[in-house]
Amino acid sequence: MKTNTSTFAVSAKRVANQNLDDWLPNHAVIISENLIADVIPTKSLPYEGSNLKIYDLGEVSLLPGLIDAHCHMHCSATVDASHLALTETNNQLISRATNNMRKAVLAGTTTVRDLGSKNEVAFTVKQMIDLGHIPGPKLIVSGTPVTITAGHCWFFGTEADSEQDVIKAVRNQVKLGAQSIKMMATGGMFTKTSNPRRPQYNTKILKAAVTEAERMGVTIVAHTLSAEGITNCVEAGIHQLIHARWLHHDYSKGLDYRPEVVDKMVAQGQWVDPTIGHHLLAIEHAKKNNTEEQSYHWTTSQVSIGTEDHLALLEKMSESGVQFTTGLDMGMNHADHADSAASAWAFVEMLGWDNWKAIRAATTQTASALGVEKEVGKIAKGMKADLASFEGNPANNIRDMHRATSVFKDGKILKLENRVLV
Ligand SMILES: [Zn+2]
Repeated sequence: MKTNTSTFAVSAKRVANQNLDDWLPNHAVIISENLIADVIPTKSLPYEGSNLKIYDLGEVSLLPGLIDAHCHMHCSATVDASHLALTETNNQLISRATNNMRKAVLAGTTTVRDLGSKNEVAFTVKQMIDLGHIPGPKLIVSGTPVTITAGHCWFFGTEADSEQDVIKAVRNQVKLGAQSIKMMATGGMFTKTSNPRRPQYNTKILKAAVTEAERMGVTIVAHTLSAEGITNCVEAGIHQLIHARWLHHDYSKGLDYRPEVVDKMVAQGQWVDPTIGHHLLAIEHAKKNNTEEQSYHWTTSQVSIGTEDHLALLEKMSESGVQFTTGLDMGMNHADHADSAASAWAFVEMLGWDNWKAIRAATTQTASALGVEKEVGKIAKGMKADLASFEGNPANNIRDMHRATSVFKDGKILKLENRVLV
């Protein structure tokens, strides 16, 4: 890959300020090697009398590179994603993952946490990106999720049933290079032999995993779709929750919201990725193609639960003080790796958030959840030079934040005014 790192300036009509709550009009970002050296009014260029190369991006909005907390790098984002993950060879999966990570970074998503891919794929692709051999975002990877035998995503590779099995699985993932551990606290729609309404692990086993992860300096991120699953995760002190839906364990019933569990979640500072960007894309896909939104699982409720019912509870959680991260669940049906910005769209359109709040979620807020807020997530002196420009103004229309027109990662120019350079 071309290593065009040096010192240069990138100017734009709108540059996000450090707090990510307004634009700096007509500003330039000075990039030196892989860092942001300064942010100055464009009229102050040339910088310190040098003959600095200036890339004037013109009428665009310049944001920090987007951050996505939930990816499956080798999944296909098609309706047969589950079947493919089950049947494809590692070579096929690595090939798709390589392309997916390229798509993600060229769309402006410069940091991605992968929460469940085969070990042979996740660690290989991360290494190739880190060495600069292939383009991709900065990756934080978990490798295979830890799940029970025949449990949610068992075919990714790590089945662990007992407390001892789970402790060993956490240790093994860390040994392979996992920076975060994904656990499947309940079953999921993706896996026929799992039950999304029932816990896969009791609180004692989850707690053992948390203790072991903390000893090794990594976090546990747990998938949960049911009220019992959330309760167990909160009781066990799981660091972050994915989906956080409140399905009742009895499939003749609807949802089972537990405000006291939410209060404890807030008190413990447990982050939630509500994965509603994925829902937004799936709903739009169904509308466009005149098909029903798909939900074929055998445990589907006998009472009808609509997206609006789940959203009402997520809104309650948000109002109670639960902090949300982005996390598209990239690779699941219709969640294309180039569409990470849909998480921010969903915060605005489905939860009624202010545009800047959604932009902060997609940048600095999720950086904090990932523990990388000192490096990435805002445009400020000393931060990594990860930038993405968008046509239009996402502070007025959140959908203007979609696929970036220019992308800079670690001070390297990957895409310049829609020309891909890698
Ligand atoms: Zn997922």
